[in-house]
Amino acid sequence: MAVIVQKYGGTSVGSLNRIEAVAENIIQTRQQGHQVVAVLSAMSGETNRLLSLAQSLDKHPASRELDVLLATGEQVSIALLAIALIQRGYSAISLLAHQVGIVTDNHFGRAHIKHIKTKRLAQALEQEQIVLVAGFQGVDHENNITTLGRGGSDTSAVAIAAALQANECQIFTDVDGIYSADPRIVPQAKRLDHIRFDEMLVMANLGAKVLQNRAVEYAMRHNLTIRVLSSFNQGVGTQVTNHYSEEMPQNQLPVSSITHQQQELLLTLNNIRSHQLTAEYIQALADKGIELDMLNQTVMADESITLSFTIHQDSEQQVLKILQNDISNNAGVTIKLDHNVAKLSVVGAGIKSKTETIGQFFKALSDEKIEIMLISSSEIHISVIINKQDLIKGVHALHSAFNLNLSA
Ligand code: ADP
Ligand code: ASP
Ligand code: MG
Repeated sequence: MAVIVQKYGGTSVGSLNRIEAVAENIIQTRQQGHQVVAVLSAMSGETNRLLSLAQSLDKHPASRELDVLLATGEQVSIALLAIALIQRGYSAISLLAHQVGIVTDNHFGRAHIKHIKTKRLAQALEQEQIVLVAGFQGVDHENNITTLGRGGSDTSAVAIAAALQANECQIFTDVDGIYSADPRIVPQAKRLDHIRFDEMLVMANLGAKVLQNRAVEYAMRHNLTIRVLSSFNQGVGTQVTNHYSEEMPQNQLPVSSITHQQQELLLTLNNIRSHQLTAEYIQALADKGIELDMLNQTVMADESITLSFTIHQDSEQQVLKILQNDISNNAGVTIKLDHNVAKLSVVGAGIKSKTETIGQFFKALSDEKIEIMLISSSEIHISVIINKQDLIKGVHALHSAFNLNLSA
């Protein structure tokens, strides 16, 4: 009898009907002779609703209290699912993170899991119970409730699967696998049977929210297979592992997916008078844990420096505060904010060995007259910052230029 760890996301538990459907899915797994630990998200829209309640009292709510509030969403869904399972004659128990012992650091809103105690989980499984665990939450060493960042239930599930030494972690969501682009934007996108951890990690970092980036990182570190499946239909889904199976045709393509990110903000600092000052700005932001992306520095004709970079929109206020504090001593430097930008990327393990990929990438965008503002690349990705209004056109152009369309 194997322990199967399943995770159900917000849409999958978004209504009472959906919770009943999930109960049936779990019962099916149980009837196949497996023990089940299911990790749940809050019902869809609930975390945003709670967040906006807090923000209507304070635009920047106290982070400890915000976590206490946001963690309640998952408590509702695990309890409802337990009720549905018990009503169907199955023994089930819901557990919050502090009851399990999901221990995190104390970075409210973006806590990292340090370890998971397995005693309570093992006890419940021994008693033949179906165990329902609240995703997205943890508890720090002082018993404060923490949350793991948006989309964090994926990471809860992966960490629990690793702690229980499960064979794989099944992530049930509202699409039937990982696609060559967001299937809601590109209907011709192809489902991938397999994808490697490193590619999926880059995709998640570049905006593919089908898996939280930390979940992929965690699974990679523990060499735990993730399988992404639909909670609406049966299917084989997509396996995320550290290797490809040799016969996969998609291996032959240098690019496996097109990814986009809309929550970008482009900052341009003009008229910086010295390289030392540039370094100070970057250091001040890095010290506060701000992730700068797509960084570019240009020396202008008058020898002043222009520094451009992108950040996630959520960090806007924090970044402005840091920069304005520093810049107040440095008259003349101006900050320009551009919200009208987006990041468009191609990801693929074969990019490094195919010099023509970069040419194809730029040709596809120039054929569509898409202006590129910033560029970054690695062995497995190329990303550009473009105007937001060109994003959908760009996703389609790259998807077809790299022969990823279903009909190709
Ligand atoms: P859940 O609530 O189950 O965690 P999410 O909304 O977080 O679900 O993630 C699933 C969504 O990810 C899909 O509905 C899809 O729009 C989006 N997505 C983005 N990129 C991809 C991709 N490459 N493949 C599949 N889904 C993707
Ligand atoms: N409910 C949380 C969120 O909306 C966590 C999750 O869904 O994974 O971000
Ligand atoms: Mg998610």
